[in-house]
Amino acid sequence: MAPGLLNISNEDDIPSSTLAGSRLPISDIKIVGFETYDLRFPTSLDASGSDAMNPSGDYSAAHVRLTTNTDLTGHGISFTIGRGNDLCTAAARAIAERLVGKTLGELTADMGRTWRYLVSDSQMRWVGPEKGVVHLGLSACVNALWDLWARYLGKPLWKLVCDLTPEEFVACIDFRYIVDAITPEEAVALLRGLEKTKAARVRDARSNRAVPAYTTQAGWLGFSDEKMVELIRSNLAVGMDKFKLKVGGDIKDDRRRLKIARDTIGHDRMLMVDANQVWSVPDAIENMKKLVEFKPVFIEEPTSPDDILGHAAIRKALKPYGVGVATGEHCQNRVIFKQLLQADAIDYCQIDACRLGGVNEVLAVLLMAKKFNVPIVPHSGGIGLNEYTQHLALLNYICVSGEKSLLEHINSFSEVLKHPVQTKDGYFVTPWEAGYSVEYKPEAIAAYEYPSGSFWTSEKGLGIINGPKA
Ligand SMILES: [Mg+2]
Repeated sequence: MAPGLLNISNEDDIPSSTLAGSRLPISDIKIVGFETYDLRFPTSLDASGSDAMNPSGDYSAAHVRLTTNTDLTGHGISFTIGRGNDLCTAAARAIAERLVGKTLGELTADMGRTWRYLVSDSQMRWVGPEKGVVHLGLSACVNALWDLWARYLGKPLWKLVCDLTPEEFVACIDFRYIVDAITPEEAVALLRGLEKTKAARVRDARSNRAVPAYTTQAGWLGFSDEKMVELIRSNLAVGMDKFKLKVGGDIKDDRRRLKIARDTIGHDRMLMVDANQVWSVPDAIENMKKLVEFKPVFIEEPTSPDDILGHAAIRKALKPYGVGVATGEHCQNRVIFKQLLQADAIDYCQIDACRLGGVNEVLAVLLMAKKFNVPIVPHSGGIGLNEYTQHLALLNYICVSGEKSLLEHINSFSEVLKHPVQTKDGYFVTPWEAGYSVEYKPEAIAAYEYPSGSFWTSEKGLGIINGPKA
């Protein structure tokens, strides 16, 4: 296929106010450079994001902005929780260099090949491969490229993907390490099978009923019982009636908090728990047996994210109690997800927009989860991450699974974003701005760029920098 000739119509159903970007042929849009930013938001100040493994995170973004020979730019992030964000930003710089001098047309004509190209710098690959810091850096670049493409087309990213033909969708994926779980031909057939009923799901997106929300923000481990109850009540009052609580501290405390939460939520509403990897396999089983009376739907990250057989053992042990196993926010690539699915180790597949290597690799995992009949519940903790996962939940529902993905809602520091997520009546409001929805306001970058921004040079900021490192 020649560059720029993808079968994507510029449909008239996109609100005209969102149409952006150049009308130059896509083959004339050239990436001429990039900027990177180490952004850190001081969430540790109020214990937002605190859990059993991560008591004091400052939600951060390794941010890449691709610049072109026009006024179009592509914005991408990877998510971290503070220290180490500089490493991811450096990795993103090394990978972004591979995009400079290329046209948007040649990069998007075969996105699967482009993704393989970006992970194939053999010297950078040595410090992965396809995992850890180098992969987080990759996702910032890949997400920026998809954002640039969607802005060029004047579409939100979810719509761009939903408008691809099954063949074009599948061509975005590097199948090298997953073909033993799903072939490109199977994937095309799977997507084609969903096409007939797609229009009804797009209607759900238009009426803001495609992505149901749950909140973690009442149940951070560092919150007092009183604050938790107050937050549960205020969420219930606005229609947010599904909750996740952090566990994995002292088991007596976990039981106390869960009892209070269950009594406040009521016994029919959905409650989930998340241990953030703190337990061994036997501890996970024994501790969860002490929590089953509070009827959690699933235990998230019960143990090491690399322990596929451990997750399978926990799942088997908890099945008689009706408690499922969920994981994914630390699953380093599609190969780990493949094995979790092949080993019947998970009940819920928690894709992450940044831990995986950007949109392309997420699409691969969505297809595998569909084939193995495991529902998607994306991970959204982070500032900007939820803006990404709303698109992934939408496109998964509309063209991959046909089932709604329950999506975590996070809105800490939403004021730093130009287009923060919105919820209404317990659902996400479908985004219509062109692109992938993560663009920070210039004043936010000026305040939170680390360590030179105005917040980080203030007394409060220096207090965090020079304070204890938990
Ligand atoms: Mg989690």
